[in-house]
Amino acid sequence: MNVHDSERIGGLLEEAGYVPVAADAAPDLVVFNTCAVRENADNKLYGNLSHLAPAKRENPDMQIAVGGCLAQKDRGEIVKRAPWVDAVFGTHNIGSLPVLLERARHNQEAEVEILESLETFPSALPTKRDSTYSGWVSISVGCNNTCTFCIVPSLRGKEKDRRPGEILAEVQALVDEGVSEVTLLGQNVNTYGVEFGDKLAFGKLLRACGEIEGLERVRFTSPHPKNFTHDVIAAMAETPNVCHSLHMPLQSGSDRVLKEMRRSYRSEKYLQIIADVREAMPDAAITTDIIVGFPGETEEDFQATLDVVEKARFSSAFTFQYSIRPGTPAATMEDQIPKAVVQERYERLVALQERVSWEENRKLEGTEVEVLVTVGDGRKDAATGRLSGRARDGRLVHFAVTPSETDPTGNAEGVRPGDVVTTVVTYGAPHHLVADGEVLTHRATKAGDAWAAGKATKLPGVSLGMPGIGRKPLPKQEGPGCAC
Ligand code: SF4
Repeated sequence: MNVHDSERIGGLLEEAGYVPVAADAAPDLVVFNTCAVRENADNKLYGNLSHLAPAKRENPDMQIAVGGCLAQKDRGEIVKRAPWVDAVFGTHNIGSLPVLLERARHNQEAEVEILESLETFPSALPTKRDSTYSGWVSISVGCNNTCTFCIVPSLRGKEKDRRPGEILAEVQALVDEGVSEVTLLGQNVNTYGVEFGDKLAFGKLLRACGEIEGLERVRFTSPHPKNFTHDVIAAMAETPNVCHSLHMPLQSGSDRVLKEMRRSYRSEKYLQIIADVREAMPDAAITTDIIVGFPGETEEDFQATLDVVEKARFSSAFTFQYSIRPGTPAATMEDQIPKAVVQERYERLVALQERVSWEENRKLEGTEVEVLVTVGDGRKDAATGRLSGRARDGRLVHFAVTPSETDPTGNAEGVRPGDVVTTVVTYGAPHHLVADGEVLTHRATKAGDAWAAGKATKLPGVSLGMPGIGRKPLPKQEGPGCAC
């Protein structure tokens, strides 16, 4: 969600006349889009702000703005702790940023504006996309759940759904620009439609995406097991451009811990959804999020998580060590687990998931895979002579090409980021697939043309960090987007 917000901030600023500057140039504006969900977010933000203080002293015209969840939470506290900040804006009023900067410049004082509810639906704001081949599209913001470890509901508010027609128009506009992969984005996509009274709205939306010509891959994140319904499984299975990949957070395999987390499904229901998904789509790759060391988690609870992980056969999992998020109910729960215990359990979970991922990936050896070529997914590509991309099920694939010094793409096959190739998996590693045989087919795409024309980013699709944005027209270069 924050990454897409960063794209919107970039779009808004471009529309207001700002242009990105080279990483080593002195910017006129630095924007932090913060995320309070991340561990240590406060320390990282205030640390980064301190680093900027000398630059601000040297160039008082340089402006610094802070937005995102942490700004929504800390509000005026930010300018108290870092008085050299010019503007603070929240998650509900991203669109106000250019005006706040203008006002701060004119009044020569910090502008803090935090709203409690959404002013403009974020996707109605201009967006500066970081990739020519894939794009995020918000379908809803906020969340009606109250998971006890999560700060999102208090910072992003209740769920607000965007109208299907508006979403589909944005998807169509992206496809017209050459994008072939879209990820529908919401805190809980399975409750999409709750605001306008249609419980089947999400499945219908997936099917409607299937009607968009030129849209090759549709993904979504994140579903909630509590609200996952069969019409969505049917829509996934029956809509050819919806990818057979599902990222569904488990968080814990212990029913007792799930109850403490206020996540109102149980491990049996979770496993049943997975079984139903696999029955409808045997090739589905299922990934998840798991928190280790939630307050009060016993060895028995943790064992229940390991059992679910063993049974679920996730292709990969994002594993997190629980850490206190101030302002959440779990932060004040008794029985916080000692760090050493959390670490030890975490290592056991990671080892188990590595084994499962590896076993699952090895099963794909010898199978044909369709790869959407990406930028920045293969750090060793230059050394190995491979390119990288994503399979339809979301797996990372490194595939061999023939090096060429004459072809502008650097490979004799002329494959560019954004293009689509098919190849055969020769090795399944724990975290990726390798295809060292020949490229079987190569389809040039509009996104590949855009990359070749130098319009596309030469950096990874979406990146995190600190953006440098200036007002003078300097050579164009992509800037990263998030402070934590
Ligand atoms: S479903 Fe739970 S974890 Fe996800 S955003 Fe809502 S409250 Fe947070």
